[in-house]
Amino acid sequence: MARLGSWIEPFPEGIYVRPADAWIDPSQPKAKALVTHGHADHARGGHSEVWATAETLAIMATRYGDQNGNPVAYGETFRLGEVDVSFVPAGHVLGSAQIVLEHAGERIVVSGDYKRREDPTCAPFEPVPCDIFITEATFGLPVFRHPDTGSEIDRLLHRLHSDPSRCLLVGAYALGKAQRVITELRRRGHEQPIYYHGAVERLCRLYEELGVPLGEMRHAAGVKKEEMAGHIVIAPPSALNDRWSRRLPDPVTAMASGWMRIRQRARQSNIELPLIISDHADWDELTCTIRELAPREVWITHGREEALKHWCMIHQIKARELNLVGYEDEDE
Ligand SMILES: [Zn+2]
Ligand SMILES: [Zn+2]
Repeated sequence: MARLGSWIEPFPEGIYVRPADAWIDPSQPKAKALVTHGHADHARGGHSEVWATAETLAIMATRYGDQNGNPVAYGETFRLGEVDVSFVPAGHVLGSAQIVLEHAGERIVVSGDYKRREDPTCAPFEPVPCDIFITEATFGLPVFRHPDTGSEIDRLLHRLHSDPSRCLLVGAYALGKAQRVITELRRRGHEQPIYYHGAVERLCRLYEELGVPLGEMRHAAGVKKEEMAGHIVIAPPSALNDRWSRRLPDPVTAMASGWMRIRQRARQSNIELPLIISDHADWDELTCTIRELAPREVWITHGREEALKHWCMIHQIKARELNLVGYEDEDE
């Protein structure tokens, strides 16, 4: 009998699905690419043909121009070569999907990046029992346990209201995190305009076009300093300590990221208010998901593989590291 999952092969540049002659999230241009979500380390330009959700294709189009794309709806099954393929929500960012592959009586689920907690900007993760679960492990260490998102947003609002002469500058990755922070603020009753850095503008617009309302947003460029006092300004992490931020009224610098769990990382980037808000599964989400899906094998794509592999072994689940290259953790 063939080894479980012998029909898919991990290469450093992505996962190759042989009987479909297609690649998942390849980091190099390929003839056929199945793309889990729009973050740049998973969705690259230059493929001849792409299968992804309509949202992911729209995100790729804003970055790379129009794709030769086949939009795939969640839950729809299509056949590629000798493989039945479907996309189900991963709960990571708008349009993010896990890719379910069925062939030779085996079901393999490629999670892409995912999380289990609620996110008002995207469909929730859908568990699909499988023979092999191919998972990320960005926060695959027991030290990573993300707090409740609402309480982090409350800390942000509390700080904002405690000194109306200052503004609150929040660093958030431009795709996904920025829109999630804005939507969570709206949910907690924050109705004032939110100012943004030009680098997050296109994706905020796109989210709105795709049905995620963000409330009143204003471009920070050309606005008088005094006008932004007492307000929230959203910017990509790279803008927090650069010249751009000098136009702001005495900003309190915050950053929304799972990495803010590491105090040293916050200090190094001069973050006054670290907010632990993550779009990736934390340790409990990773291990609970594996328990729930009860796969025969777990393959780990990227992140802190060792501890998760060890946890699988203790729980009698065969696990291996795939050592894919090119996935970064900076989308977090
Ligand atoms: Zn991602
Ligand atoms: Zn990623």
